[in-house]
Amino acid sequence: MKRIYLDHSATTPVAPEVLEAMLPYFTEKFGNASSLHSFGLEAKQALEESRKKVAGLLGADPEELIFTSGGTESDNLALKGIAYRNKTKGRHIITTSIEHPAILETCRKLETEGFDVTYLPVNSEGLIEPETLESAIKSETILISVMHANNEIGTIQPLEEIGKIAAEKEIYLHTDAVQSVGKISTDVNALGVDLLSLSSHKLYGPKGIGALYIRKGTRLESIIQGGGHERGLRSGTENIAGIVGLARAAELAGETMDIERDRLTWLRDKLASQVLDKVKDAWINGTMTNRLPGNINFGFRYVEGESLLLFLDSKGIAVSTGSACSSKKLEPSHVLLSLGLLPEECHGSLRITLGRSNTEEDMDYVAQSIVEAVERFRAISALGRGA
Ligand SMILES: *Cc1c(COP(=O)(O)O)cnc(C)c1O
Repeated sequence: MKRIYLDHSATTPVAPEVLEAMLPYFTEKFGNASSLHSFGLEAKQALEESRKKVAGLLGADPEELIFTSGGTESDNLALKGIAYRNKTKGRHIITTSIEHPAILETCRKLETEGFDVTYLPVNSEGLIEPETLESAIKSETILISVMHANNEIGTIQPLEEIGKIAAEKEIYLHTDAVQSVGKISTDVNALGVDLLSLSSHKLYGPKGIGALYIRKGTRLESIIQGGGHERGLRSGTENIAGIVGLARAAELAGETMDIERDRLTWLRDKLASQVLDKVKDAWINGTMTNRLPGNINFGFRYVEGESLLLFLDSKGIAVSTGSACSSKKLEPSHVLLSLGLLPEECHGSLRITLGRSNTEEDMDYVAQSIVEAVERFRAISALGRGA
């Protein structure tokens, strides 16, 4: 059976070019970048070349970038690093209710340490209103963290506007751009951010590697102590193979971004309209205008997202859901609830995230399979018969 992967927001396969670039760094080029001999210099050179490439994708200076173990660590370092360093100035942080757990759980932890966190609500499209942000700012606010694009509903936040507000009030602005880097433009100067998190495995690089952009002059405290690697901000022998992989992935993403953005937007819209034309009581969560190219999030009334997911998996199609059953917490997605959806409306959600391997032909088969799945489960549920 042909397998169709439509869960690119969860992770992506390593691109062949990326794997090829990495391989020598597991074997003959295995040096420690801190060593003074030629093995070390070779590793150090790869490290700095990679830094340039990743910085290039962000329009940043290479010295403004440090490598981490991924998106989660970058988010932790940005939030805790700014909070600990600036706690004498103030202890208030502003974020949103639809962030990734790497942000939300870090904020909860900071709350237990005496920081005060405001979780901004979003409107029914998943967007934060700049006025709401402005009215949440206090004299003690030291950091605003707003994700660039949401991992569930693909909503892209008005970061440029938020950046202007943050700059005017002289408050640091961090963005979790794990979902947007490589898919849409993430120029740090255009966005007006001081810190930006990214993760390699969401852009066809290996897992376990990421980076944090830190604008020149932004001071933060390290959360990992050790040998002082990465300007003292992230101790630990550098994962050179991973870093080289991330850099190659960033290069490829930069080269193909424009074409891939248009292609995925077209495929996404085609799939969405094919399904919405045939299925009643169905809708799209989020907004169709400020949305990541490859993201669709369907809502289907009277069906359980997990049933749909498992049925589609049996047909070789891999998707995800924000329904309660599939989450460990037995609660529906906090993102969908934040849009104002009722719990029962979250249960029938299906997230489809497209990527490089997906074709137009796939979309026809996927649309057909989704229609079949929804009809089948509605037929066997009492609710589906209108009871
Ligand atoms: C995947 C993801 C993360 C976590 O990144 P890891 O590299 O898996 O730790 C953080 N934020 C968002 C928005 C993500 O999608």
